[in-house]
Amino acid sequence: MNLCDIRTVRDILSAFGTGTKKSFGQNFLINQSIPERIAENCCDDNDSVIIEIGPGIGCLTAELAKRYKKVIAFEIDETLIPVLKYTLGEFKNVEVINQDIMEVDLAAVISEKAQGEKISVCANLPYYITTPILMRLLESRIAFDSITVMVQAEVAARLSAAPGTADYGAITASLCYYGQPQKLFTVSAGNFMPAPKVNSAVVRIDLYREKPVVPKDEDRFFKVIKAAFGQRRKTLVNALQTGFPNYSKEDLTAIITECGFDERVRGEKLSTADFAAIADKMA
Ligand code: SAM
Repeated sequence: MNLCDIRTVRDILSAFGTGTKKSFGQNFLINQSIPERIAENCCDDNDSVIIEIGPGIGCLTAELAKRYKKVIAFEIDETLIPVLKYTLGEFKNVEVINQDIMEVDLAAVISEKAQGEKISVCANLPYYITTPILMRLLESRIAFDSITVMVQAEVAARLSAAPGTADYGAITASLCYYGQPQKLFTVSAGNFMPAPKVNSAVVRIDLYREKPVVPKDEDRFFKVIKAAFGQRRKTLVNALQTGFPNYSKEDLTAIITECGFDERVRGEKLSTADFAAIADKMA
C-alpha cells in the first residue's frame, strides 16, 4: 500500500468515513520520497525509539518503523486511529496513542514504554501549533538525541538563522540554548494534500548532552531574550528597560558595555552565549 498515493489517501479516508481536517493542521504528504528522506535523516542510530507527533494516515510512521527500533506516535484525531490500525497493521514496532501532544505527560510515557532507550523526535508538524510543540519538547528536559520537524519554510528559516540576519529572533536564540539546528531540505507545497499556501522545510535539531552555555538563572536568561526581541527596532538597552523596569538605563548600559558590546547594540546581533552573559551580569 502506497500511503503517499493521492488516490489511496482519499480512498482510505473515505472508507473510514473521515477526511482532512484543517482545524488539526492536516496536510498529508503525497510524495513517497519525502517521508523516506525525513526518516533516513532524522536520527543516526537505528536502535533508537522515535516519538512521532501527528502520524496522519501513517506514511512517515511506516518509514520510521522500517528503520528504527520502535515508533510511539501521538495522534489527536480519533477518527484516524482505526485508519492507522489498518495502514500500519504489519508493523509490530509501532504504538499509536490517541492524545494531544500538548496535554500528554511525555516523560511518563517514555519512562513506561522506552526506559533507558535512545530517543529522538520526528514529525511533520501541524502548522497551527509548531512553536508551542517545539518549545514544549525542548522545555520537557527529556534527553532527546535529536528533534526533526517539518515546518513552514519561513519558520524553518527562523529556527536555523544566524545572529544578525533578518530571520534571527527569540525562538532562534532560545533554541540554540538547547541544541544545534540545521535546515535539511525544502519541500514545496505541491507535495501535500491539501496543498498549503506556503512551502515547507525540514529542520533537525541535535540536542546538547552538555549545554555549552549555562546561565546562572535560566528564567532571567529567557526573560532577557524575550525582552530583547519584544522590541526589535529598539536598542538592547531600551528593549531591556521595558522588560526590566527595575533597572535604570544607566545600569543597563553599564551591564551591556561591561559585557563588551556597544551601548547602541540591538538584540538581533547577539548570540545565545551573549544573552547568557548579559543575564548573568544582571544578577
Ligand atoms: N504525518 C502525516 C504526514 O506527514 O502526512 C500527517 C502530518 S499533518 C501536517 C499533522 C498531523 O498532526 C495530523 O495528523 C493531525 O491530526 C496531527 N495533530 C494536530 N495537532 C495535534 C496535536 N496537538 N497532538 C497530536 N497530533 C496532532
